[in-house]
Formats: sequence, structure tokens, C-alpha cells
Amino acid sequence: YKRIVLNSRPEGDIEPTTFRTETLPLNNLKPGAGEVLVQVTWLSLDPAMRGYIRDVRSYLPPVQIGETMRAQGLGVVVQAGSKSVHSVGQLVSGAFGWTEFAVMKDRHAEKITVPKGVQPLDFLNILGSSGLTAYFGLRDICQLKPGDKMVVSGAAGSVGSVACQLGKRAGATVYAIAGSQEKCEWLVKELGVDKAFNYKSPTFRKDFKEAGYIDAYFDNVGGDILDMVLTRLNKGARIALCGAISQYNATKPKGLQNYLTLISQRAKIQGFIILDYTTEFPAAIEEMGRAIADGSLKGKFHIVHGLEQAPVALPMLFTGGNTGKLVVKVSEE
Ligand code: NDP
Repeated sequence: YKRIVLNSRPEGDIEPTTFRTETLPLNNLKPGAGEVLVQVTWLSLDPAMRGYIRDVRSYLPPVQIGETMRAQGLGVVVQAGSKSVHSVGQLVSGAFGWTEFAVMKDRHAEKITVPKGVQPLDFLNILGSSGLTAYFGLRDICQLKPGDKMVVSGAAGSVGSVACQLGKRAGATVYAIAGSQEKCEWLVKELGVDKAFNYKSPTFRKDFKEAGYIDAYFDNVGGDILDMVLTRLNKGARIALCGAISQYNATKPKGLQNYLTLISQRAKIQGFIILDYTTEFPAAIEEMGRAIADGSLKGKFHIVHGLEQAPVALPMLFTGGNTGKLVVKVSEE
């Protein structure tokens, strides 16, 4: 079987030498007591992976050189060790990593029950960490009231597109920021945002200013866009620092110029990490699952085929090559 390991730590952008593929005998993977052998079907590609391969203190330890690259995925139990709570054929999710097969402890291979009207792959998107991140960031930090104006950056991505839709559901006016005209059209026509701004347009700053002041900002990108939004805050505005993808490849992250408006507008800016909300996942999954089933919450996937495509596809997140959730299809379900 194949697995992909971290080969070297990049300085800036991910490079062709950052990862390397290894082929190992499948016979070596034997589940022990309370363990399962999982065949990986799908893997999620996430901007956070750039952080995992950086040797700095963060919310998870860095992936070491020679270790399988960390990644969340879906898979099927193909062998269950003695005393395992799982049976062969069970659909599971877990941090399997960039590999075709993995041996996991039962508690790290979470059984997935797919509700009616939902597809298993939704568990890597709206019902996985992307959707849940949008859900809890909006609920706890943006704290929308009907009539509020909210801005979402990285809006055509996986987290952003859910944040936009949940913002509309909460009765807010939603302004989206994304990197192409096509993405902006999709956001308005398919997801129902009120306005979408292409940050690569020469008139972006002027257009955004004309849209007025805002009450909440769900920030996925950081950098210059965050700094610009800081100049457009209403009194008591809330900013959820979800991510800062514009800075993840930077050797020196950019500072903010306009943060004094946080004082004058009595605004709040707060970071959060989805891993702190695990006990609340089941209720949120149930709520968003119902919304998927009734067609009111939509997800989009950008699918690449084959494990070996993972290192080639990952940089797409940093160039905007994806619309919606970027996933790798590793094997048939
Ligand atoms: P996306 O699907 O949104 O993909 C990333 C997108 O970011 C790209 O498609 C691109 O779209 C945009 N982008 C890339 N570079 C830049 C740039 N320099 N300036 C502006 N936009 C840029 O990824 P996710 O939905 O998985 O993640 C979105 C954010 O959420 C990330 O910052 C991630 O780290 C964060 N996150 C945080 C979590 C938490 O617990 N706090 C959990 C999960 C994710 P475009 O064409 O618009 O440029």
C-alpha cells in the first residue's frame, strides 16, 4: 500500500520535495486488540496542513520528517481486531493521514451513521470540521442578530461557503469576498449572498467601501483584507478569526495597521479552534444534516483522484484553484 510522508519542511510555498511517497507491504498492518484496519476512501485537504508541517508551537504537534502526513478522512473497516467495537464494512472517520490503509484504535475511528438525505462525503464538508467551524464561529463569536451585516472572506471555500449560508439563515445581510468573478456569481446565484466582491478586481476597495459599515466579520484570510475590513466596523462589531490563509506561506506574517478602530468602535476580535467544540458536534451535525436533507444548506466539492494527487492538489488552496471543499478520492466506497 502507499502512504505519503513529510520529506522536508518548506520555507515558503509547498514544494515538490516537501512530501515523498512510500510503498509498504500491507501484511505489516495487523489490527491488535481493540483496533481496526481501515481502507481509506476519501481524504480532506485543509489549509491547516501548512501549519502542521511547520516546526512551531500550535494547537497540535508538528508532523515530523518521515511521518505520514496528517489528514482527516473517511474509510471502511476491512479487518477488526479482537474485542473491537467495530465490524467489517463499517463506515468510519478519523485522522488516517495520507495513506491508503491505516491501523487505528477503535476510539480514533469514529463510526459514522449517515442520516437520510445526506451523503457520506458531507462528513468531510458541512458535517465535518469545515461546516462545524463555520457553525461555532458564527454562533459564539459573530453572534448575529437579524438585520446585522456580516462579511465572510474566503467565501467560496469550504468553511466560507457554509458561513455565508448560515449567516443568511440567521437573518443577516451577507457580503462575500472571493478571488474570481465565477466564484462571486456562484455565491450570489447559488448560495444567496446579498453581494459578492472579487478581491482581485481593481475596484475592490472602492466597491467594498460603498457597501457601508458592518457588524460581523468571519475572517478566513487575514492580511490586507482583514486590515481593510477593520476600517469598516460598526459600533460593537464582532470579528471571528477563523484562519489567515494569506499568511500561511509567509516567512514574516503581516502586521495590522488599522486595529485602533477596535477601540473606537468597541469591537471584539477573537480566534477559535474547532477542536474545542467536540462535545457539541452531534447536535450541530443533526441540525445541519436536516438542512442538507431539505435542500436549504448546500455543499460543493472539488474532487481530485488518487492518493498521489494529494501533494499536488494541496497548493490549490493557496492559489484559489478550488471552489468548495477540496477532497481526494483514495479508493471506491
Ligand atoms: P478553502 O476551501 O476556503 O480554501 C482556501 C481558499 O482561500 C482558496 O480557495 C482561496 O480562494 C482563498 N485564498 C488563498 N490564498 C488567499 C489569499 N492570499 N488571500 C485571500 N484568499 C486566499 O479552505 P477551508 O475552507 O478549508 O479553510 C478556510 C479557512 O478556515 C482557512 O484559513 C483555515 O485555516 C481556516 N480553518 C480554521 C479552523 C479553526 O478551527 N479555526 C478549522 C478549519 C479551517 P480565493 O479564490 O477566494 O482566493
